[in-house]
Amino acid sequence: MPHPPIAFDNTYARDLEGFHVPAQPAKVPAPSLLFFNHGLARELGLGLGGMDDQELAEMFSGNALPEGAEPIAQAYAGHQFGQFSPQLGDGRALLIGEVLDATGQRWDIALKGSGRTPFSRRGDGKAAVGPMLREVLIGEAMQALGIPTTRALAVVATGEPVFRERALPGAVLTRVAASHLRVGTFQFFATHTPVEHVKKLADYTLARHFPELLKAENPYFQLLGAVAERQAALIARWMHVGFIHGVMNTDNMSLAGETIDYGPCAFMEAYRPRAVFSSIDEAGRYAYREQPRIARWNLARFAETLLPLLAPEEGQAIALATEVIDAFPERYHQHWLAGLRAKLSLADDAGPDDSALGEDWLSLLGEQKVDFTLAWRRLADAAEGNEAPLRALFGDTAPLDAWLARWQSRCGMGADAQTSPATRAEAMRRVNPWLIPRNHRVEEALAAATDQGDLAPFEALLNALRHPFDERPEFARYADPATPDFMAGFQTFCGT
Ligand code: AMP
Ligand code: MG
Repeated sequence: MPHPPIAFDNTYARDLEGFHVPAQPAKVPAPSLLFFNHGLARELGLGLGGMDDQELAEMFSGNALPEGAEPIAQAYAGHQFGQFSPQLGDGRALLIGEVLDATGQRWDIALKGSGRTPFSRRGDGKAAVGPMLREVLIGEAMQALGIPTTRALAVVATGEPVFRERALPGAVLTRVAASHLRVGTFQFFATHTPVEHVKKLADYTLARHFPELLKAENPYFQLLGAVAERQAALIARWMHVGFIHGVMNTDNMSLAGETIDYGPCAFMEAYRPRAVFSSIDEAGRYAYREQPRIARWNLARFAETLLPLLAPEEGQAIALATEVIDAFPERYHQHWLAGLRAKLSLADDAGPDDSALGEDWLSLLGEQKVDFTLAWRRLADAAEGNEAPLRALFGDTAPLDAWLARWQSRCGMGADAQTSPATRAEAMRRVNPWLIPRNHRVEEALAAATDQGDLAPFEALLNALRHPFDERPEFARYADPATPDFMAGFQTFCGT
């Protein structure tokens, strides 16, 4: 059945000539639909309701792009592990178009794994089933946790192998993002083109993500501040669920403030500030505790690209940029503190020592290698007087008792004294997830999909991850931590 055309409105293709190159997705031999996000398709108003799975597979493999699609590969550069690569770009991705949802919000629809482009360098432009399904699981988990993220619309198996360390089944992912504007996009144009191009890109970014700033006295200074604000908020959210992005290169930092590019990411289990799982991050540059510092470093690279726009005189421009960069740690800290108070269910009008209270709790978890997610969740039980499940997580409960006494006395201060234990516990359960994507469960689901073509474990896990705050007995196996042996050997890969 022919589907009604998707109402594309492709501003990046139309308004930013020279910032991308047209490219066509590779044809795939036997597309079959592994995942389709019907809820997201409805939210976007794509009007695909009448299509069957095979039609969707043809469309989202790139074999039969919808009418109005204008596939382009976007140019960008980036610092990868601190080293500048002046040309990266969409080497295995294509933006096929933009749509407006019912609220007027604009979304990019892009393919990943759709074949070679002029930016592919030595890569094959392809992707494998496992990493693409991984992006679905982690992205949907982030979404359910309320953390800004790009989202997966579809995963289609291509029916052909991709060759990594071994032959793997190939797949194409369709990704939905507020935009694919990255720090690296600005770096590309600041490096290769006259300042007018950077200005054009900045104006586009402002119009798309921060239209309220267009009329400001110095909109480019405001842009830097607004991007800093979104990053500070985002990284604080990551830290509070134990998320490790794993590859915070400047080309993987979205100016819209979404989590983007799920490669070697992972959720921490036992609390360990130095945790790093990526096989290629040997120096721990992108370890859990480094993430706020790296965000600031990336922001400084963004600021550099804006210097000629910030002020007519260089010294003045540097002073303005420095103001924002230097303010980042405090900006981040405020978001982290607000998140901490929410996790502890504390109001913000009392307790000047809440930061120390939070830091000491985390130190306690670190010293005794306690599971981060379970500890927070069981602290909610403790708020209601049920301390046994929490105590069971600790080898030595004496330091825990001392900390609990401090927390309880803090709960009696100011406005918090009015909160009943049951109300506090409930509030805590709404922000401290019971379920995160446990690494052993994710690996188990991806192995079944890759090795046996069995999607049932993937679907069951995805279903559980969509309700992270609800404690349901049928999902208990997803809440259990991995064994220390599993975590000791656990590594993640870029999936390229
Ligand atoms: P990533 O590590 O996914 O952020 O990608 C970094 C850069 O490598 C981007 O320019 C990608 O487009 C490119 N890239 C990654 N994998 C491939 C691949 N299989 N083929 C071509 N380019 C790739
Ligand atoms: Mg990337």
